[in-house]
Amino acid sequence: MKYCKKCRRLYADSEQNCTECKKHYALEPIEDDTTPVYLTSASGFELDRIQAALEDSSIPSASQPRAKALSADAVTGSDKTDRDILVPYSALDQARDVCIGIGAIKPDGEEPVVDEKDIEDAVDSEIDESQLISPAKRTTIKIVSAILLIVIACLVIWGTDFITGLIKGLFG
Ligand SMILES: [Zn+2]
Repeated sequence: MKYCKKCRRLYADSEQNCTECKKHYALEPIEDDTTPVYLTSASGFELDRIQAALEDSSIPSASQPRAKALSADAVTGSDKTDRDILVPYSALDQARDVCIGIGAIKPDGEEPVVDEKDIEDAVDSEIDESQLISPAKRTTIKIVSAILLIVIACLVIWGTDFITGLIKGLFG
């Protein structure tokens, strides 16, 4: 396993450069189990929550400003305060489990980092949700629509009768 000395992300031995860092830092092999490596990114309360959970599990952690803070992410201004959480390489698996346990990391290893792709995904899933109305909900909507239609029809009929009656009363 290799890691980037700047952002501390892990890479397979076959990789040569860090793809996270702007300048594509050369990767170095991990020789020491205590080498701090990247766990996940978080800010504010979430950062405190993750570090507290790690501490509860006796996993030492550190945080550093997010590696990509000056790249595309900074333009959106959404995660200026995001920090990379680092844990010793030997405790990485355990730290991941802790984060999965508190819902800070998705079980498949995907990080809850807000980047453009995540935002697109979120928008997509919102659209999906509105399109995928449950059958029960759909039936309810149909019934409500039918009732509303009847009510409107009644109002129109009664309204017409009332006006007709009024006219007849005036001229009859
Ligand atoms: Zn890097």
